[in-house]
Amino acid sequence: MNAPVTPKDLRKFKVIDRAEAAVPVTVAYGDGIGPEIMKACLKVLTAGKANLQYEPIEIGENVYLSGQTAGIGEEAWESLRRTKVFFKAPITTPQGSGYKSLNVTVRKSLGLFANIRPSVSYMPFVPSKHPEMDVVIIRENEEDLYAGIEHRQTDEVFQCLKLVSRPGTERIVRYAFEYARANGRRKVSCFSKDNIMKLTDGLFHQVFDEIAPEYPEIETDHWIIDIGAARLAAKPEQFDVIVTSNLYGDIISDIAGEISGSVGLGPSANIGSHCAMFEAIHGSAPDIAGQNVANPSGLLLAGVMMLVHIGQTEAAERIHNAWLRTIEEGFHTADTYHAGLQNKKVTTDEFAEAVIARLGEKPQKLKPVAYKRDAEITVPEPVRHKPHVKKQVGIDIFVHADTTPDELAEKLKSAAPECLDLVMISNRGVKVWPNGMPETFCTDHWRCRYMMRDQDQELQMPEMLKLFEALGAARVDVIKTENLCTFDGKPGYSLGQGQ
Ligand code: NAD
Repeated sequence: MNAPVTPKDLRKFKVIDRAEAAVPVTVAYGDGIGPEIMKACLKVLTAGKANLQYEPIEIGENVYLSGQTAGIGEEAWESLRRTKVFFKAPITTPQGSGYKSLNVTVRKSLGLFANIRPSVSYMPFVPSKHPEMDVVIIRENEEDLYAGIEHRQTDEVFQCLKLVSRPGTERIVRYAFEYARANGRRKVSCFSKDNIMKLTDGLFHQVFDEIAPEYPEIETDHWIIDIGAARLAAKPEQFDVIVTSNLYGDIISDIAGEISGSVGLGPSANIGSHCAMFEAIHGSAPDIAGQNVANPSGLLLAGVMMLVHIGQTEAAERIHNAWLRTIEEGFHTADTYHAGLQNKKVTTDEFAEAVIARLGEKPQKLKPVAYKRDAEITVPEPVRHKPHVKKQVGIDIFVHADTTPDELAEKLKSAAPECLDLVMISNRGVKVWPNGMPETFCTDHWRCRYMMRDQDQELQMPEMLKLFEALGAARVDVIKTENLCTFDGKPGYSLGQGQ
């Protein structure tokens, strides 16, 4: 792998661009509608005087089906690491559990921690119930449930781990504020579900509250994700920049794209400290592939974001304004075409030609775009904080058993070494022992919590081994354990529901 590139190196890279050297860009034509929309976009970028040198790579369905379960080969990685800029058409993930999502693999392998997804209303030229909508969703791109760590633990229960880190959260929250500052945005909203997930989503919200005061000119608010998503769907004009975690961001950005007029209009940038990837938010649309009817706009606007990223702002502005003028003049592919609006229904190729014919023009009714050359966003590398004083004060033992809470409690109590007390058994998170309710439905998956009798003492390995030995002798099927620790005296574990 090449030596890591620092943000300072990236700035140098942009200076080279100003000296008019063509910037190498790795290009993937993708699957389904990918090749037709990518061809159309490259034609527009070239005509719009983007100074790029394209390096095509093959990724996606053919690579998957040739036996590479990641959907990408060594040569493609080599090109990506070298050019550090990736323009990617959508790809098809074959059905079946053997194939990992290539998008997630690329985002995580290249450290593309920030996913930027703008959704804009183009009323009255693209019908939408939300004429004032102009929202940018900044989605954390590497963590959360997308860590993809899943296990089947019992006959009945499957688990997916949600991982949220402080450095990862600090980086994405800071990016959102820096983005808002660089782009003259007035407000940043945080979406989380910290009323339920107090540790993981709680951290996300807490970090947001810690960083917000560093940007006093920017208004902030926090929304619980469910009401936030509902409000976004009903009144998107109330939002400006939204920062959220991976899964929520994925869902709300599709909602935002759809209500802005068409999912075919939405671009997406995936930004890291070393590399960046630009793509449409939609997929490979196999239902319309090969028909020359797909909308290339999402991918083209992603191309515009790419030009801004590498400092070619004049070309970005020229192409974006020509695209706005094309929409205004009523040229639309089938997805945004409405006969009542006296639009002209055009093919993918004709749409690209219409944009090319308007290069140099500005929109008359929609707001023209203006890109600043130095609106560069730099976010420091994640900081490692001083370690906290960590003390193990108990252990959760997860057990697979077809039993009742009382029966299980008897077995577990008798297995406990002198220093530990069994304090709780929960089933799917809700306390069922002691004093459980007969109405609670129980699966075969139990969490059994032992705490140190003397909370000033720390649980040591020999005592844990004694416990495991006794549980083994009592034929308790242990599926996993979690250490219960305090950090500077604060519990690093949640209570059972009802505990
Ligand atoms: P999709 O986005 O491909 O299609 C959903 C609907 O939107 C379809 O009716 C389609 O015709 C329409 N549509 C999408 N893009 C359009 C465009 N540019 N112009 C006009 N209409 C458009 O979603 P899907 O059907 O759920 O997924 C199809 C494949 O794409 C799957 O294999 C999925 O894994 C993959 N996918 C890839 C990416 C990516 O590469 N970034 C993202 C999402 C889905």
